[in-house]
Amino acid sequence: MSSRARAARESITRDIARRGAFQYRGRSPFQMTERKKSGSPPELLLTNCREILTLRGPAPRRGPALGELEIIRDGALLVRDGRIAAAGPRRRIENLRESRRAETLDARRGVVLPGFVDSHTHLVFPAPRANEYEQRISGASYEEIARAGGGILSSVRGLRKMSAAELKARALAHLAQFAAHGTTTVEAKSGYGLDWPSERKILLTMRELGREQPVEIVPTFLGAHAVPPEFRGGGKSADDYAEIICREWLPRVGGNQLAEFCDVFCERGAFTVAQSRKILTAARACGLGLRVHAEQLSRTGAARLAIEQHAASADHLEKISASDMRALARSGVTCTLLPGCCFHLGLAHYAPARALIDAGAIVALATDFNPGTSPTLSMPMILSLACAQMRMTPAEAIAAATVNAAYSLGRYGRAGSLEVGKFADLAVFDVADYREIPYYFGVNHCVLTMKRGRVICSREPRC
Ligand SMILES: [Zn+2]
Repeated sequence: MSSRARAARESITRDIARRGAFQYRGRSPFQMTERKKSGSPPELLLTNCREILTLRGPAPRRGPALGELEIIRDGALLVRDGRIAAAGPRRRIENLRESRRAETLDARRGVVLPGFVDSHTHLVFPAPRANEYEQRISGASYEEIARAGGGILSSVRGLRKMSAAELKARALAHLAQFAAHGTTTVEAKSGYGLDWPSERKILLTMRELGREQPVEIVPTFLGAHAVPPEFRGGGKSADDYAEIICREWLPRVGGNQLAEFCDVFCERGAFTVAQSRKILTAARACGLGLRVHAEQLSRTGAARLAIEQHAASADHLEKISASDMRALARSGVTCTLLPGCCFHLGLAHYAPARALIDAGAIVALATDFNPGTSPTLSMPMILSLACAQMRMTPAEAIAAATVNAAYSLGRYGRAGSLEVGKFADLAVFDVADYREIPYYFGVNHCVLTMKRGRVICSREPRC
């Protein structure tokens, strides 16, 4: 790591420490019995849980099933080799022979739920864009700011100049905050590079981050995030750029397993349905799963395209029609809703979550963490917005942020619910009732986050 990158990392770490928001990988304040000399013991007993929201059962969840949390009251959970070995009433689990020799972690009457699966983020970016935030408050629209050289392209300029080490240090600090808010799996998109060396730099940074810190990263290639400046005039067009993505970049992404998914920003001012179709078709041929930024600022037909292409997810959907909704409800496409975006942009119109759920669509929630339209990494805040602005119940919002999000990322077999055999990815909230998680908007009551049976973040509960 260069000295500049090290200095950047240290300053970010100092900044976080000053804010005192959490202790990352620090000493657990939870009462633990003495560790065995052989290192991390294979068995761990998490007990004294007021509620365990198991969310056990089949996925994806549609309609009324979305609100079924399958709660164990006064429960305990036994973890063996990073996976859940048993979950049930406290007395029964504590009396298991294995539990008696396990290391004990006291949840202090907290509410335990599966770690959040944030299925839509733009994790790796160079800097915040608070200046645009102020411009928007003064009346400029997101599209006007983009036309004036701001928006995604200003992040692109910054990212191309920034070293991989510096980008990584920034993303690492963000991942620590994701963990502090109870998130254990994060989908992360490229898309602020828009030339091959820069897109590759982002994807390799995500790969390194996935190996070096505990939050699981699901990488997505989003070369079609915006049309880069080199393809705006001078005889070159968005069609030429789409052609390069298909012919040159996607085979490299697929061949080197740099990403699991390919995403396209199918939107007015970005990529047309025809260009998006071409890119998605090429991506599938390279072995990638598909995701689509669809119907956010205008209705383009992107949701129909996602259905036609059997995409894993269509994201945003603020501008869908009633017939789009019916088609999505009949499909296997997850509707990933991103209320943080509407909130930050000050928009009155949110995606029609209630109607989508009632029609039987698969609904998930995510932060859309990015510097332009949704600078939050707090899933609890997203739950608050989903409940207050989109009329989802607290139970539906929690299931959308765990089980259904894991399903959309192909992770349901190992994450998204607390069931025997799955990874012990979970979060403990210092609340008396799970409904208090969205109820206290803008307040983080997550006191412990566990990934594969290991405590990755913890802090003292409130007195
Ligand atoms: Zn996005």
